[in-house]
Amino acid sequence: MRSTPGSANSAGFDVVIVGAGIAGLQMLYRVRELGLTVRAFEAGSDVGGTWYWNGYPGARCDVESLEYSYQFSEELQQEWEWTERFATQPEILRYLNHVADRFDLRRDIQFNTRVEALTYDEDAGRWTVRTAAGDETTARFAVMATGCLSSANVPAFAGLDTFAGEIYHTGRWPHHDVDFTGKRVGVIGTGSSGIQSIPVVAEQAAELYVFQRTAAYSLPAGNHPLDPAEQAAIKADYAGFRARNNRMPSAGNSRFPANPASIFDATPDEREAAFDFRWARGGPGLLGTYGDIMVNKDANDIAAEYVREKIRQIVKDPELAARLSPEQVLGCKRICLDTNYYETFNRPNVHLVDVAAAPIERLTPTGIRTRAGEYELDAVIFATGFDAMTGALLSIDIRGRADLTLREKWSAGPRTYLGLGVPGFPNLFTISGPGSPSVLTNMMVSIHQHVNWIGECIQYLRDNEIVSIEATLEAEQAWVIHVNEVADTTLYPQCNSWYLGANIPGKTRVFMPLVGFPAYLDKCAEVAANGYEGFDLTRDRRLASCD
Ligand SMILES: Cc1cc2nc3c(=O)[nH]c(=O)nc-3n(C[C@H](O)[C@H](O)[C@H](O)COP(=O)(O)OP(=O)(O)OC[C@H]3O[C@@H](n4cnc5c(N)ncnc54)[C@H](O)[C@@H]3O)c2cc1C
Repeated sequence: MRSTPGSANSAGFDVVIVGAGIAGLQMLYRVRELGLTVRAFEAGSDVGGTWYWNGYPGARCDVESLEYSYQFSEELQQEWEWTERFATQPEILRYLNHVADRFDLRRDIQFNTRVEALTYDEDAGRWTVRTAAGDETTARFAVMATGCLSSANVPAFAGLDTFAGEIYHTGRWPHHDVDFTGKRVGVIGTGSSGIQSIPVVAEQAAELYVFQRTAAYSLPAGNHPLDPAEQAAIKADYAGFRARNNRMPSAGNSRFPANPASIFDATPDEREAAFDFRWARGGPGLLGTYGDIMVNKDANDIAAEYVREKIRQIVKDPELAARLSPEQVLGCKRICLDTNYYETFNRPNVHLVDVAAAPIERLTPTGIRTRAGEYELDAVIFATGFDAMTGALLSIDIRGRADLTLREKWSAGPRTYLGLGVPGFPNLFTISGPGSPSVLTNMMVSIHQHVNWIGECIQYLRDNEIVSIEATLEAEQAWVIHVNEVADTTLYPQCNSWYLGANIPGKTRVFMPLVGFPAYLDKCAEVAANGYEGFDLTRDRRLASCD
């Protein structure tokens, strides 16, 4: 029943996957292992997802390369050689292309194809998938590998269409060289993408204006070429390394775990030395200097003040340093890693524009006008992030039982069971869905876990002649309460972060990811071991075979 991509198959597929990023590629590989027919649809013209779309200057992973990689094939993880501690976007994209080639994945992927609608036919027990071109196909199972950070957020500034210069979004970067040499460039936004791109753009641009609404905390990445001996040591026992990372709250960093001790049991000198050590080592480890930094506001204040002091030491102009110093809880917005971010503000061609004090009023044909003045620009870069976690899913018209739409179902915020299933939407799985650890982890690992869980689930359904699986409302309700209760034991909900949807005007504020990977891993395994507890399973002999 396998067909070549290019047109929808009227006979349909066992599984349809939406998205060909890290998750879609691995899911495709897994479905093929099960011997099922599959078609993946991808809006972009090639594989890679995040790493295909985000080719902005300075784009880089903030999880170490040896951890941010697939583990489903021992041969793959042995043969691929990473070159840097934190891989660049081009290197990750090369890796994902290698994976697509090595496992011949492209033949089941239809590129340049945006899925517009998914409709569940209750009688047939199948999903109808409609693309933006109007083609339709059907599948028993739909796996949404649409990404947590794939729906680019462009604020609706007045005059956007009137700007005569170049406009870019970091999450929709063109696939050709962009050269800012000699240009006046504006970067809007100082989240992770802004912080990575600003130092690189500053080296090219004649003048760089950074439009900052909220200062973000950034820690030095401490990037460096990978030592071949270090790589070889990990490869000697990759399975053991992966297993140790699985027991870490963020599904990674087992070589440098958080210190469980309280900050209040350490003297000021001990704290300083501990922070200095982690700052110098680079990476996100500073948040784990003590066990209470992410759960106790007083502990967090001490760590936050340490970072602010570092900013004061790096940025020569004290007034500028103060404007670059965040006030919010350290780490409750995604922590950024940088290479020379604060240092860049010592350059004479870099200017910080405070748009909290004087907001952007509009784009004009020649630049950006804020309440305080006008900035003449040749290019504007939106580093304004994403409609995170739900944006890509809700941009598709997904209709489940009784024509229930996902948009209605989630009108008061996303509700799932395990971040994998939604009541009313049988046989539809969400990879890294809201309610799963997703963006609070090394996503390579959480995607791996979801793909395997879904693969095993589909296998179980086949083995037991079950035609449909659907999360129950009771399980969903209990899970939503659980996710909130866990979040409330931490400081995460205390900022206006994209974890809460606070960066999108009008979006309901719900803390979307689940804090803590190991307990989640165990819970998913337990659910599966108990015959998919919390899900309704339907047997129907008429529809019993997937083949
Ligand atoms: C700049 C940046 C840096 C990041 N750095 C890290 C990091 O250091 N560590 C980490 O763990 N995570 C990081 N992430 C998160 C990153 O998104 C994940 O690590 C991972 O790449 C997600 O893979 P995915 O396949 O789930 O989603 P994506 O890579 O987002 O892929 C989803 C794909 O689905 C496609 N798609 C969506 N909707 C449709 C539709 N309707 N029809 C057809 N196709 C569709 C998209 O075009 C996209 O290609 C980063 C994200 C960004 C944006």
